Amino acid sequence: MKTVVIASNNPGKIREMRSILAPFFDRVLSLGETGVVCDPEETGTTFEENALIKARAVCAATGLPALADDSGLCVDALDGAPGVFSARYAAMHHVDDANALLLEQMKAVPDGERSARFVASVALARPDGSVVIACGQCRGSIARAPKGDGGFGYDPIFALPDGRTIAELSDEEKNRVSHRGEALRALAAKL
Ligand code: IMP
Repeated sequence: MKTVVIASNNPGKIREMRSILAPFFDRVLSLGETGVVCDPEETGTTFEENALIKARAVCAATGLPALADDSGLCVDALDGAPGVFSARYAAMHHVDDANALLLEQMKAVPDGERSARFVASVALARPDGSVVIACGQCRGSIARAPKGDGGFGYDPIFALPDGRTIAELSDEEKNRVSHRGEALRALAAKL
């Protein structure tokens, strides 16, 4: 039986990864379902390094193949920020709301210069020590105001070329166009 553990405690990511991975594995477990507590420090400087750190740690702790995603938002006008610090961006600036912070930082940036991309690296670590890595991205721009209530994180302020934010897409639509969907399908093709 092909089992994989999703090496994440982020409910938004777990929901998306479960539905994308379902066709490729017999059993997709969340970390919570294994009963193992594992939250390694993300000390890498790239998405790929951090994905590998998480996948290897959860594989070692559970004895099962573990799949981790490390992802984030890179805004061109902010020199790629928040990047690998996407999850910690609000805390780093001592505020509660990362989306409000980004909108404020982007206030003076004109419409044609608001390009951004979501990036995801995914890593599968197996108990035999082998690893498989893949990446994906989704291009768009930073909206002027949040819109929509789907998805999670920066979705309400990330606009696609058609003008909708990712938070306005259905789960299936997001999985089709998202950085995580692209990365997971690329990884599955390598297995
Ligand atoms: P990490 O990969 O757990 O370090 O955190 C990634 C962070 O990037 C999340 O906490 C979100 O803030 C952001 N992020 C990653 N993927 C998405 C997405 O699909 N939508 C919105 N925000 C995302």
